[in-house]
Amino acid sequence: MKIPFSPPYINDDVIFEVTDTLRSGWITTGPKVKALEDEIKKLSGAKYVLCVNSWTSGAILMLRWLGIKDGDEVIVPAYTYCATAMAVLWAGGKPVMVDSDEDFNISVAGIRNAITEKTKAIIPVDIAGYPCDYDAIMKLVNEPEIKQKFKADSSVQEKLGRILVLSDAAHSLGARYKNDVNTGSETDVAIFSLHAVKNVTTAEGGAICLNLPEPFDNQQLYAELRRRSLNCQTKDALAKTRAGGWRYDIVGQGMKINMADINAAIGLAQIRQYPIIWKERKRVFDAYNREFSKYNWAILPPSICGERETSYHIFALRIKDFSEEQRDKMIDEISKNEVAVNVHFIPMPMLSFFKGLGYDIKNYPQAYKNYCGEISLPIYPQLDDEKVQFVIKTVIDSYYKVVGK
Ligand SMILES: *Cc1c(COP(=O)(O)O)cnc(C)c1O
Repeated sequence: MKIPFSPPYINDDVIFEVTDTLRSGWITTGPKVKALEDEIKKLSGAKYVLCVNSWTSGAILMLRWLGIKDGDEVIVPAYTYCATAMAVLWAGGKPVMVDSDEDFNISVAGIRNAITEKTKAIIPVDIAGYPCDYDAIMKLVNEPEIKQKFKADSSVQEKLGRILVLSDAAHSLGARYKNDVNTGSETDVAIFSLHAVKNVTTAEGGAICLNLPEPFDNQQLYAELRRRSLNCQTKDALAKTRAGGWRYDIVGQGMKINMADINAAIGLAQIRQYPIIWKERKRVFDAYNREFSKYNWAILPPSICGERETSYHIFALRIKDFSEEQRDKMIDEISKNEVAVNVHFIPMPMLSFFKGLGYDIKNYPQAYKNYCGEISLPIYPQLDDEKVQFVIKTVIDSYYKVVGK
């Protein structure tokens, strides 16, 4: 039985929505993007949502809007996908990496220790879809002592008067933070990724959620950022095609990172079926949990804790006390059975580029520990119960092959 890791969820509804766009005569940014923004707004509870062409470009846009410049520090976890730090670098800042907690997410105590007078933003990451402790992080940046340390040197920073919290919610669309409160609404800015392997996709895409506090006007900010995502052109392509609508102005150095309707159509059809997609992912997640809870060598991923509940994006199994080599061997065994698994994530300080910048995994012991035993199992709606049982059996057999029992 061949089991891919994360095929996209494409059914007739998705195909219909895409062909509808193709037949409509309008394929780039237009009504489908607007409709997708509205759906994400509903699901996340964010005040405003702007869709762009990736999480990464959205994060660069927001950090540049914040006025990040040379030497400004942005706190990120060491344990995340490289994009989290790459966006900081492209915006002209310096990523300051912090160790994780046992639940994979960034350590709030670690954030506190990393804050300096140069800290402009924090990017917590909801690893595997399990929300970070936003209350603790928002409380931290609002502490009088931390605020006093903050040195504003852009008009946006002046207006905010404290460190910005921009959450990397790439995995956590539809995750619950509190009863009736979902991810995307609890931090100043939150960005979802709509990349092909994420739980809702537009092939490539990102959605920026805006929840800036007073005196920011989120509606006005949405309009400004939308313009910045379109070369700072005062009129978008749709407005310009209308008779007599040819004249426009360029009012700043914008980026070109808008989402096209043809992409939005995929996500729009998917997000309308989100309750089904969520339920099906949870079915797989729960089946893994049920089986692996019988083995004391298996560490189950965080899923529900108090009011917090994961988006069931990744099933991050960990093998207790496994070394990196044992884990790699176990993946080799699993792969022999044609079950595709992954590791989320190789901590950034272990990757050549970041090593070259001077980051050292020795400074992130919990991230390293989380990584050593981690194996992400396939989780998606198309995985029927028979396939789930096959994955479980393969993983268990592979474990015993490695430990020789
Ligand atoms: C996928 C991912 C990103 C990047 O998303 P893109 O839309 O591909 O730019 C960022 N952070 C995390 C944690 C991710 O998994």
